[in-house]
Amino acid sequence: PAASVESLMERASHILQSTFKLKSLRPLQKTAIQGALGGNSQIVIMATGGGKSLCYQLPTLACGSTYNQTARNSRVTIVVCPLIALMIDQVNNLMKKGVMTAACWSSSHSAKDKAHIMKRLSVEKEKPTKKASTKSDNVELTPIQMLYVTPELIETQRFRDVLMKLHSANRLFMFAIDEAHCLSTWGHDFRPAYRKLTWISESFQDVPIMACTGTATAQVINDIRSTLGFGNEVPCHLGTFNRPNIGYKVKYKDSLNTEPQGAINDLIKEVKKQHVTAEKAKQPCAGIIYVHKREDCQSLATQIYKSTGILAAAYHAGLKDAERDDTQRKWCDGRIKVAVATVAFGMGIDLPHVRYVIHWTMSKSLEGFYQESGRAGRDGFPSESILYYSKDDASKFTFLVNKNAEKARQKTGQRDGKVAQKLDRALLEIEGMVDYCVKPGCKRQYVLSHFGEKIDPKKLCQKTCDYCINPRKVEMAIQASECASAVVNSQKSWHAHRKNASEKKYHHNPTASDESLGEYESDDGFGMGRDEGLLGITSYAGDDEMIQEPPARKGGFMKASSVLKKYETLECQQGKRNGFINFKTRTV
Ligand code: ADP
Repeated sequence: PAASVESLMERASHILQSTFKLKSLRPLQKTAIQGALGGNSQIVIMATGGGKSLCYQLPTLACGSTYNQTARNSRVTIVVCPLIALMIDQVNNLMKKGVMTAACWSSSHSAKDKAHIMKRLSVEKEKPTKKASTKSDNVELTPIQMLYVTPELIETQRFRDVLMKLHSANRLFMFAIDEAHCLSTWGHDFRPAYRKLTWISESFQDVPIMACTGTATAQVINDIRSTLGFGNEVPCHLGTFNRPNIGYKVKYKDSLNTEPQGAINDLIKEVKKQHVTAEKAKQPCAGIIYVHKREDCQSLATQIYKSTGILAAAYHAGLKDAERDDTQRKWCDGRIKVAVATVAFGMGIDLPHVRYVIHWTMSKSLEGFYQESGRAGRDGFPSESILYYSKDDASKFTFLVNKNAEKARQKTGQRDGKVAQKLDRALLEIEGMVDYCVKPGCKRQYVLSHFGEKIDPKKLCQKTCDYCINPRKVEMAIQASECASAVVNSQKSWHAHRKNASEKKYHHNPTASDESLGEYESDDGFGMGRDEGLLGITSYAGDDEMIQEPPARKGGFMKASSVLKKYETLECQQGKRNGFINFKTRTV
């Protein structure tokens, strides 16, 4: 007779303690496991490190152990997993800890491996041997409780056969879809093969599906529902996305770079600080630095190593597989301390003591940023996310997105609604990321509100983001950064302008109001500061050149870099004239 959910739950608690050696279930795990034991499909959304895998492992074991399992009657959970390395890791962990028997079905496994799995699942035609089975035969035929498969292989004829046979013998316990956001184009890791999962939901309607992800935007959840054919009755369990042990900080490359090499030196200082602190506390420490361009990975890694002696290595998709695997292995076992990487690095990384994740280039979306920074602090100890923002990076992303959209348009030959939609979305995502960097407010709250969570920063952040620690300082830093990037831009415009104009006379434009931008104009109408978001600073000179302050005030000449220094030290009396520089800034 079928056991009741209550008695299965009791069994699950027992297995949790005896086999997993864990004291108790987290609240959301309990709900999800109860659902799975009741044979229901569900969406389980939890932050990285929230414990998603237990949600499908534990019910599989709890139900499995009600049977006198043999290869022929064991029930199997099929886990769809996006990365081969990740699935091998999970299977090895389960086997090592003696938790359960699991196997992988992927393109890196040979036909022989697959035949062996089929035998262990007892879905091959039996070839009874007359001889009594030896001990090793028994080991070989240990039933498989959990079978990991890549989405690419799920629909292959051979795997279909496996599924069909298991199904007709009523031996499919559940499908667990790991990283389910990969099925959504709204997610940050879209994988077309995940779309094949529709086939599963249609073919095995009586087998429950658990879709697990760490991404919770409404669009992604909708896509999960429609791809997997989930009706409204299928619950979506949403955990908190808060990662209380990660501190959030933004630094501004543009202001730092008013000194030569300023931002890079700052980065090196941060890295060093992290490792020195960990060493003092005798704790292991690993770090990740995310960079946009492949070529920057190597140069940053070299600079970090040269200045600090801390071993850093590059990781990006342009390296050979063997080189990448080698770096990842060395980083995981501590021989390399810092991975300087593109976003190719990270999915499925389960290193507990990543103490810091630095974004040298911002992510293209908050979604991506959350996942990447979330690789820090899986062990629950204090960790840091540091993002180096520059207006230039944001503009480059916007430019690239537009360029790609243009290319796509040319390919389709005309204006395509889908391209436009994708473009809008990508631009919105960049905007969201920029707002994280330049909008004053609690960083933790900003990230969580993106996932629809409302928090009271006073209660939840508890001074763990730079804004909650010192709002005034952050507001000033944001303004100084605006100013610095404006000066850099105006320097660029100036040099361009100088090429064309031989005569440069500037005069005060009396028609411009004090509150407007571009108070000063050149004779030839070259709008100074108008596009740069600055008022009153005649910062149209190169760093090495003198610039004139507004003649209406006491001023004289000074270097662009000194203006910036002054700007910072004058504490940004926003909107007020103070005799020197007017601090009114505007985003144009
Ligand atoms: P996710 O897949 O959600 O990122 P994992 O399933 O890898 O997270 O679990 C992250 C860590 O949390 C693992 O080390 C796991 O052992 C631990 N964990 C999971 N559930 C619990 C629990 N109920 N109590 C304590 N630790 C847990």
